[in-house]
Amino acid sequence: EPLIAICGRPNVGKSTLFNRLTRTRRSIVGDEPGITRDRIYGEVEWQGHKARLVDTGGVIPDDEALIPSEIFRQAQVALDEADAIVMVVDGRSEITAPDVEMARLLVRSGKPIFLAVNKMESAAVAMEADNFRTLGFKEVFPVSAEHGTGVGDLLDAVYGVLPASETPTDAEEEATDDEVTNEDEPKLHRTHGEFDLHETKIAIIGRPNVGKSTLLNALTGTKRAIVSPIAGTTRDAVDEVVSRGGHDFRFVDTAGIRRKGKTTAMAEKLSVIMARKHLEASDVALLVIDATEGVTALDANIGGYAHESGRSVVIVVNKWDAVTSNREDKTTPGANQKVYAEQVREHLKYLDYAPLVFISAQKSMNVPAVFREVARVAKERRKRVTTGEMNRFLKRVDFQRASVPMSRRVKIYFMTQAAVAPPTFVLFTDKDVKLHFSFERFLENQIRESFGFVGTPIWFKTKGRN
Ligand code: GDP
Repeated sequence: EPLIAICGRPNVGKSTLFNRLTRTRRSIVGDEPGITRDRIYGEVEWQGHKARLVDTGGVIPDDEALIPSEIFRQAQVALDEADAIVMVVDGRSEITAPDVEMARLLVRSGKPIFLAVNKMESAAVAMEADNFRTLGFKEVFPVSAEHGTGVGDLLDAVYGVLPASETPTDAEEEATDDEVTNEDEPKLHRTHGEFDLHETKIAIIGRPNVGKSTLLNALTGTKRAIVSPIAGTTRDAVDEVVSRGGHDFRFVDTAGIRRKGKTTAMAEKLSVIMARKHLEASDVALLVIDATEGVTALDANIGGYAHESGRSVVIVVNKWDAVTSNREDKTTPGANQKVYAEQVREHLKYLDYAPLVFISAQKSMNVPAVFREVARVAKERRKRVTTGEMNRFLKRVDFQRASVPMSRRVKIYFMTQAAVAPPTFVLFTDKDVKLHFSFERFLENQIRESFGFVGTPIWFKTKGRN
């Protein structure tokens, strides 16, 4: 089902509008300050068509305090997930700075956006809604969320841009995947990768004793760290969040990372299971390698799961201090980062898109680079290429250069980025066949050359005409 997002600063009547549209009383989940920031979903039905509705604001504890990051967060949620966005302002108050800021972020995205000017009970005051055109919206809708006035007109307009939801065709069925936006309206896609204020969920993965828990301590600060956990005392999954430069880094299931074991066969098996579990809950994986041992088969195995999962990856070569101090002569290949990196990449070929950092978790060497790379790949992962850029790209690339047998060559008529995280491209081709491996590889390299996408795998789907 298509998703409509409601945004707006506190007190403008988002909740009332949400309730009006869904005709339900939403339940507030929990009453702790942290919990009330949760998004709230509902369902709206209009002229027989259903859509999901999300109140991106949630319930904000202190109505006066709309911090800038909250504006960004709401806008980000709406931009990432919604097919259409309704921004609500209070028609009876002046335009405020948060209104302007939010409008600017939303309008720039190029998504279909509708401005609902609320608290416009009568036709006479509804005229004043026009004052809000200065926010940059083409159309403004005077509404009264409380009385329902004008809501029908708003819904007519919103539904006009939504993808159809009933009797889905194959294409639409696929398009209901999370994050997949309306493929029928590719012109609406715009790059909005510049917002990196999203929270990033991070999995620290790797085999036993590579230094995962030492790294976690180095990243989160040792104060909160459990130095020697006694078996059984850390049963529950706990996340730890570090905020840096407006970006929240959430390390998932840190109890699982801190749970230590000797390097037994059992512990090794467990490290794979934990990696898969942690990947599931994350956006970015830190694949930790022990520099004193190099890439082992188990590392490669865990790296393979990370690649397949569609998560972004940063390769962290840990214990670099031990490699350099073991050698008096620092010019030997073992201590040369460039040579070492090549060896690592040789064993983790499929992760060629992942940045690689050398650190010592124990000596806190180069740990900030880990944050930097996580922030970078998190942003790249959510980057969107417009269909216009994509078309120009297709014209530019010489596909004859791909070494693909004649019989497996396809002609690409059209290509569009259908999703982010991971970036997923849909190719409309002349043949309904799976892309040849070399062709896919070629295309991926060309895309990376033009658009980057550092750290993230790129996925393809084809839709052949037959
Ligand atoms: P985990 O099983 O992956 O969580 O690994 P731990 O964090 O428990 O670390 C395993 C061992 O490696 C411990 O003895 C750490 O002290 C050691 N270690 C971790 N990081 C480093 C590092 O950067 N340099 C060195 N020399 N030793 C480290």
